Amino acid sequence: MQIFMLKRNLRLQDSAPFFHAMKSVRRHGNVLPLYIHEPEMIRQPDVSRQHQAFIRETLDDLVSEIETLGGQLLELVGDAISVLERIHASKPITRICTHRETTQNSQFERDNQVRQWCLAHGVELVEFEQNGIARGRQQPLTFPEYFSQSVNLTLKDPTGTNLSERFEKPQMPSCSLQDIPNAQGVDKPLRQTGGRREGVRALNHFFTLQNLNQYPFKLSSPNTGWDGCSRMSTYLAYGVVSDREVFRAVDRVVTEGHQRLNSDQFQTLQDRARFYLDRLTWRRQYIQAFENDPSLETQCMLRQFNGVREAEFDQALFDAWKSGRTGYPYIDAAMRCLHETGWINMRLRATVVSFATMNLWLPTVKVAQYLATEFLDYDPAIHHVIHQVVAGTSTFDGLMVYDPIKQGLDHDADGTFIRRYIPELADCAGPEVHHLQTVSGHKNVHSKTIVRPYPEPVVDHRETAMKAKRRVRNLQKGLADSGTRQIGLL
Ligand SMILES: Cc1cc2nc3c(=O)[nH]c(=O)nc-3n(C[C@H](O)[C@H](O)[C@H](O)COP(=O)(O)OP(=O)(O)OC[C@H]3O[C@@H](n4cnc5c(N)ncnc54)[C@H](O)[C@@H]3O)c2cc1C
Repeated sequence: MQIFMLKRNLRLQDSAPFFHAMKSVRRHGNVLPLYIHEPEMIRQPDVSRQHQAFIRETLDDLVSEIETLGGQLLELVGDAISVLERIHASKPITRICTHRETTQNSQFERDNQVRQWCLAHGVELVEFEQNGIARGRQQPLTFPEYFSQSVNLTLKDPTGTNLSERFEKPQMPSCSLQDIPNAQGVDKPLRQTGGRREGVRALNHFFTLQNLNQYPFKLSSPNTGWDGCSRMSTYLAYGVVSDREVFRAVDRVVTEGHQRLNSDQFQTLQDRARFYLDRLTWRRQYIQAFENDPSLETQCMLRQFNGVREAEFDQALFDAWKSGRTGYPYIDAAMRCLHETGWINMRLRATVVSFATMNLWLPTVKVAQYLATEFLDYDPAIHHVIHQVVAGTSTFDGLMVYDPIKQGLDHDADGTFIRRYIPELADCAGPEVHHLQTVSGHKNVHSKTIVRPYPEPVVDHRETAMKAKRRVRNLQKGLADSGTRQIGLL
């Protein structure tokens, strides 16, 4: 019997492991689709209730999809090895087909244990690469090569076929929902819904001529980004939709544009499509960087930064930032929006991380760890690398400290986003919400009634930005860190 192991590859479409397992039934035996709820993985500090709920919704879709094809998804609770032992004892496993993942250390370690177990039990383990990521001595394709290879492939979709003869009937019942331990935290009321149907709906909804054309103008503001971005990240992060399916959606819109637009309009559309694809190029670059150096989950890429911010860690500042009470409305609205929805757009993510690591001088790894639980689309391979880039602790080019007031003025000029998430500031009209120091009395309006008064800024953003830039530059050059003594000179 073969196992088709589902992890962060929660789909049947464009799934090489599913396809190859199904194709080789005669040689290797029937196929049992398996998802393991591993208590140790669920309890990791970067896993939260919203992630688990998203996975649940996705598994529910998979259960019915597999049933429609004539099979059953087996869900069990336990560590991967003991679950495999149990199944192997009930009927010998000949082969495990799954995706190769670039993921957090705990899950990478689990994958290593599965490898060892397979070796010891004479079980063939086939891990199919995904996202065009190279491991070991393999050379990755360039992005254009990978893109054109992907759009020229015929993507396999088993929908509508009867595969009942090829599926293995589970020898044991699936676990009940009560057996699965809960991850930390609470679910988020306004997060995206999981599942293949929702993933495909989001894909079809975004990839139109109009949306792709408007994307560059909508992605940077939290007011327009919600609908103006593709919102594919969570579906990509859990493998509900593959990167190749997204490439093909872009290609489909461009082909449609070629048929319908004049040459100038078509040229513009191509530029917009390239602009969108740049993001997927970065995605792949970051994943490859993490694949090459998984220590970035716990260490700074430039090792001289290790321990520097930690030495000055201020719990009160960390708490103020996390709870959206720093006295910087744009930052606080972003953090509170995250609490409710699990998503903010890319520029705003960079702004809150810059504020945390530069203005508040909070440790990069601690900030990344917290946001991992807050971002529904948390993908360790992307997440940890980008944090290092924003915090200046990486070898990537460009050091930028985002001004929290200017970012608000540029991308939420009339304060709509801020007022939506900060009820304390409901009495500040229009753009005055960005200049609280000049607005008299606003803090008292609500303090006597329903909400706590909005706090004073916890730091001076200009002063702390200058100090942080100086310290980061010095550390990047390998100079001794003398930041606190230099503040008077700045
Ligand atoms: C500090 C920080 C942490 C981040 N953590 C994550 C994370 O854990 N998971 C994650 O998927 N993205 C992460 N991003 C990247 C980016 O913010 C999100 O991918 C994007 O906001 C998701 O929304 P979307 O799908 O609508 O993106 P779109 O704007 O529609 O972009 C399309 C796709 O491109 C990819 N993408 C977009 N921007 C980037 C980027 N800067 N780097 C890499 N890939 C990108 C995503 O897969 C996204 O779905 C992070 C960015 C920052 C600054």
